[in-house]
Amino acid sequence: MQPRILDGKALAGDLRERIKSAVRTMSAEGLVPGLATVLVGNNPASVSYVRSKHRTSEEVGIRTIDVTLPEECSAEQLSDAVAELNERSDVHGILIQQPLPAHLDAEVHVAAVAPAKDVDGFHPENLGRLMRGRRCMVPCTPLGVVHMLAAGGKSTRGANVVIVGRSMLVGKPLASLLMQKNDTGNATVTVCHSATRDLPEHTRNADIVVAAIGVPGYVTADMVQEGAVVIDVGINRVDDSSRRRGYRIVGDVDYENVAPKTSAITPVPGGVGPMTVVMLMYNTVQAARGAYSQDPLTGEQQ
Ligand code: NDP
Repeated sequence: MQPRILDGKALAGDLRERIKSAVRTMSAEGLVPGLATVLVGNNPASVSYVRSKHRTSEEVGIRTIDVTLPEECSAEQLSDAVAELNERSDVHGILIQQPLPAHLDAEVHVAAVAPAKDVDGFHPENLGRLMRGRRCMVPCTPLGVVHMLAAGGKSTRGANVVIVGRSMLVGKPLASLLMQKNDTGNATVTVCHSATRDLPEHTRNADIVVAAIGVPGYVTADMVQEGAVVIDVGINRVDDSSRRRGYRIVGDVDYENVAPKTSAITPVPGGVGPMTVVMLMYNTVQAARGAYSQDPLTGEQQ
C-alpha cells in the first residue's frame, strides 16, 4: 500500500498564506495583530524557538513585541512584565517561552496571562473551557494535529484513536479535542503512557495512532495495524556524523518500516512541527479579533 504523506510543511504554507491575507485586511482596517514573547535567560533552544516565532509572525504581518529578561530575574519582575503586556491594547497574544529557569514557577506565571491573550492555550481557564467543549484558546500542537487530520480527509467520527503520551502540551489537550462532540472530534480516545500495560495491544487496535513520546522510533511496524493513520508529533535529535551539524531530527515513529503499513502518515521533519507555529499565528489572529469566546459559526458568546 502506498501511504498518503500528510505534508505538514505544505499545509502550513497554505494556512500561512490565508492568515497573511486575513492580517492584511485587519491591518488595513487599523487592527494589526500583536504577539508578545517573554523569554527569560538565553537557553539556546528557547532563543531559537522565539526567533522562529518572530520570523513567522513577521512573514504574515503580525507585529512582534520581544520581552527578554535576565536568567536571574525575580518572580516579581516576570509578573510585572506579564501584567504590563496584559494591559497593552496593541498586544493581543502573549506567550511565555518554556522552560523557565528552575527558580520560576511556570504554572504561576502562565496563570497570570490574561486568558484571552493566552495564545499557547495553557492557562487553566482555557484548559477548563476545552474540557467543557467551550470556545477557547487551544494549545497549538494539538490544534495542528486536528487540522492535519481534517485536511487529510481523515474522519475521526467513531474512530479508535490511541495517543501515546499524556503531557499537558500534547496528549491531554489532544485527547480532549478528539473527544469533542463535533466534526473534528467524536473519536473513541485511549491515552497511553509509561504505566500502560501492553501498550502495543492498544496501538494495534487503533485506526489513528498519535505518537507524542519523545523517544526516537518508539512506534514500530508491529505496533500498527494495516491501513492505520499515524501522526508523529515527536521531534528528537539523534547523532549523525554524516550531517554537517552532527545530528538529524527524527520522530517517535520508525517511519521507514511503519509507513508501508499505513494509509496516511506524517513525516518528521515536515509534519506536525510546521503546523505548530502556524497555529500560534492563527490563535494570535483569533485573539486580535476578540474571537476567544465566540463561536466561529454563529458568532454567539459561549
Ligand atoms: P513529555 O516528556 O512531556 O511527555 C512524554 C509522554 O510520553 C509522557 O506522557 C510519558 O509517559 C510518555 N512516555 C515516555 N516514554 C514512554 C514509554 N517508554 N512508553 C510509554 N509512554 C512513554 O513530552 P511532550 O509531550 O512535551 O513531547 C513529546 C514529543 O513531542 C517530544 O519529542 C517533543 O519534542 C515533541 N513535541 C513536538 C512538537 C511539535 O511541534 N511537533 C511540540 C511539542 C512537543 P509518563 O507520563 O508516564 O511519563
